[in-house]
Amino acid sequence: MSDLTYKVIVGLEIHVQLNTRTKMFCSCALSFGEEANSRVCPVCLGLPGALPVMNRQAVEYAMLAALALDCPVAEFTKWDRKSYYYPDLPKNYQISQYDLPLGGPGSIEIPLEDGTTKKVRIRRAHLEEDAGKNVHAAGSFSQVDLNRAGTPLLEIVTEPDLNGPEQVRALAVELQRIVRYLGISEADMQKGHMRFEPNVNLVIDRAGQQFKTPIAEVKNLNSFRALERSVAYEIRRQLDDFLETGRTMQMGNKSTRGWNDVHEATVLQREKEEAHDYRYFPDPDLVPVVTTRQWLDEIRSRLCELPLQRQVRYVQAYGLSEYDAGVLTGDRSTADFFEQAVGSGGDPKRICNLLTQVGLKLANERGRDLLGLGLEPNAVATLAGMIDQGVISASAGNTILQAMVETGKKPETLAQELNLVQKSDAGELEGIVDQVLKENAAAAADVVAGGKKSQKARGFLLGQVMQKTKGQANPKVVSEILNRKLR
Ligand code: ZN
Ligand code: MN
Repeated sequence: MSDLTYKVIVGLEIHVQLNTRTKMFCSCALSFGEEANSRVCPVCLGLPGALPVMNRQAVEYAMLAALALDCPVAEFTKWDRKSYYYPDLPKNYQISQYDLPLGGPGSIEIPLEDGTTKKVRIRRAHLEEDAGKNVHAAGSFSQVDLNRAGTPLLEIVTEPDLNGPEQVRALAVELQRIVRYLGISEADMQKGHMRFEPNVNLVIDRAGQQFKTPIAEVKNLNSFRALERSVAYEIRRQLDDFLETGRTMQMGNKSTRGWNDVHEATVLQREKEEAHDYRYFPDPDLVPVVTTRQWLDEIRSRLCELPLQRQVRYVQAYGLSEYDAGVLTGDRSTADFFEQAVGSGGDPKRICNLLTQVGLKLANERGRDLLGLGLEPNAVATLAGMIDQGVISASAGNTILQAMVETGKKPETLAQELNLVQKSDAGELEGIVDQVLKENAAAAADVVAGGKKSQKARGFLLGQVMQKTKGQANPKVVSEILNRKLR
């Protein structure tokens, strides 16, 4: 055991639900939580003779995603039938793309914990339709809801470039951020908008000899937590299995496993099918897709700066911490708001603090974004300026921002109304400082004497001034006066 090392190898298959208005090949509306089988038509029910018609918006969303993932978009692509016989797939085949995917190969850049980034290769990105849902209610029967059948899915397959559960999670989170930035998916995990299937195995080195464990694919994970934990579990399981049985890739088949959220374990489902089991063939009901240069250019013009690039820029250009930059670029509207406030002349760090400490908290509580709170970027910039100029303290700034959300008033007005304007007039403050020094001669002497007691005595005097001014003195100005008088 002691001379054994191993490397984790993970590739990901990801399905992202595109937020088009209608389904992939019919005009039924996409829905969530509607009455079962209320969003269906002859096409998505798979009735004989019904003909599918391609959803142009879904194709454009997929093209946009492909471009963002550095994938060349195919000039010619087509639709294939992938045969399954499942109750939630009424046609007995899924319309997908087999040998001519819409996009790929490409790459995605993900942030690592040490602050660097890593490029993960994308093998392909293609479009397909979702199946319905089997519902296992009480009783000895199952029901099927076909509202989801025919929903457009973007399937993204990475190369096995990920080397641990943290990297797998980072990729999932980054992809969620990207598709949201592009506006092509809500990527709401709770609604199953993103589903992950990691392919995991280990390359084990024992006494100079290399062994590869059989690949396990964990199906249908719909949370970051389940994704990360299932990969961690597979690492332990495969290592144990190898030590016990010595089973390697050559001896064991690729297997499909499910994740049990309660037991936090993967469970064997079946040995993996190969591509030929699906009997792929071109769908005769659909015309191939030709992506003209002009069409592609039009889609390319909709691309935006990607979230990770933006995050890196915030660190470099504004001196924000990696963490703060990550929070601000978490969604596009927050990042846009931040940049507009900076563009109105606010100090980036100051605006960042206001937004992360108060703005986003309030937005989160109310289930909105910053603009949804009624905040104007230039008003937040004004507020930041008031703090920088010492008109108000930083904590008063937080109070005022909250009041801006609650009342819609301007920061200057609120500073007056809430009595939060600091006294910064040196002449006025000097009188108060003199009075405090007179009343506390012993403490003043301690400061002048220096040594152990001096720090504490100084704090005490500052506190006395703040008390006399009901907390409205600008501590910086008071400090300067104290320094001058107690030399
Ligand atoms: Zn339909
Ligand atoms: Mn698929």
